[in-house]
Amino acid sequence: MSKPVQNPKTREWQAMSRDHHLAPFSDFKQLAEKGPRIITRADGVYLWDSEGHKILDAMAGLWCVAIGYGRKELAEAASRQMQELPYYNMFFQTATPPALELAKVISELAPAGMNHVFFTGSGSEGNDTMLRMVRHYWAIKGQPNKKVIISRLNGYHGSTVAGASLGGMTYMHEQGDLPIPGIVHIPQPYWFGEGGDMSPEAFGIWAADQLEQKILEVGEDNVAAFIAEPIQGAGGVIIPPDSYWPRIREILAKYDILFVADEVICGFGRTGEWFGSDYYGNAPHMMTIAKGLTSGYIPMGGLIVRDDIVDVLNQGGDFNHGFTYSGHPVAAAVALENLRILREEGIVERVKAETAPYLQKSLQALADHPLVGEVRGVGMLGAIELVKDKTTRARYPSSQGVGMICRSHCFENGLIMRAVGDTMIISPPLVISKAEIDELVSKARTCLDLTAQALLV
Ligand SMILES: *Cc1c(COP(=O)(O)O)cnc(C)c1O
Repeated sequence: MSKPVQNPKTREWQAMSRDHHLAPFSDFKQLAEKGPRIITRADGVYLWDSEGHKILDAMAGLWCVAIGYGRKELAEAASRQMQELPYYNMFFQTATPPALELAKVISELAPAGMNHVFFTGSGSEGNDTMLRMVRHYWAIKGQPNKKVIISRLNGYHGSTVAGASLGGMTYMHEQGDLPIPGIVHIPQPYWFGEGGDMSPEAFGIWAADQLEQKILEVGEDNVAAFIAEPIQGAGGVIIPPDSYWPRIREILAKYDILFVADEVICGFGRTGEWFGSDYYGNAPHMMTIAKGLTSGYIPMGGLIVRDDIVDVLNQGGDFNHGFTYSGHPVAAAVALENLRILREEGIVERVKAETAPYLQKSLQALADHPLVGEVRGVGMLGAIELVKDKTTRARYPSSQGVGMICRSHCFENGLIMRAVGDTMIISPPLVISKAEIDELVSKARTCLDLTAQALLV
């Protein structure tokens, strides 16, 4: 389907890919045959590939480019910090100013009472840190048996061994003998896909009650924590029914276990609030962060920890965990500049008041399309369910790869939308304008039409 390559450099890069590179989450052999699309530059919400095509990036990279591409202030912050102090570690009772200043700024933005941050290089490392920290916490409290972490099927918590184990992607578990011991999963609150004949509200209660079932099955004395994304991102922008989080909060209040919010996607404004936990009124003990923290300009993640947990950790001596790049000064300087822009330009407030309502209203207009079973969204997150039958929610056979057909049409038509099975998802930069939203939705409609036509042949 893709157009023939014109630029000789494209062919060279594709040969390098085939001969030397192993790409993440890819079929190596298939990619070697086909060759990757080469992205060479970006500005605002647009990317350009090596063939000169302009593409509207409705995924903000991988959910991360909150402030859009091309902000020179971040490059300048990195350059200044590299010249002043490119690296020093935070081990052995030393520290560097950007990491400390960043920890303070994050504490100002985080929910009340969450005033400490452990820095990592990525979201996965943030969740590895969480796993070790919650077990250490319970050991300090004299309850070393509280080790089990309850997570959700089809949740995504990263791709390290702990991250993929916490995640509930069974195709990830199949490789590498995962999950590791001490991690168990409960069903997800995905009404459209799994709610059957139940109403969304009843299904939300049912899905939340699975947490209580699991706590009782494993035994409260063995459970360390429950981890969940406020809205599942990689699983397909799964927005729980309104009944879900209130019921989860009721259950968590009954049992002595920690609550961890994986805010790697929802954090830093994606829902129109600073954190997804603010959006839902949840009060976690810990929050994993990454992605929007630096708008993806440089890798960085972390774990925000509530004061009462820190009080206990303070009694526990050394925490034997950390990374060479924990609190990396250049990453921290870039994150500080990113957060300054998000705050001073009122970007999160604008998302909430103007652009997210506009995006959601515009996306809803696609619900009348014959292929579309549901359009849902919160803030700058959206999902479009592709179905064979709008009323029964019946899918096309997976062998038809409807989502992939649609994704290819998007690529060909200058729009990046991702396909999770037959769910098309978007997560554009938070700075997307109303005119750019119009373009996004009109391109999406064109691609839905082309997909519908392709299915008739
Ligand atoms: C992306 C993601 C992660 C993993 O972050 P990496 O930086 O890729 O390690 C963890 N949790 C959620 C919710 C994510 O979306």
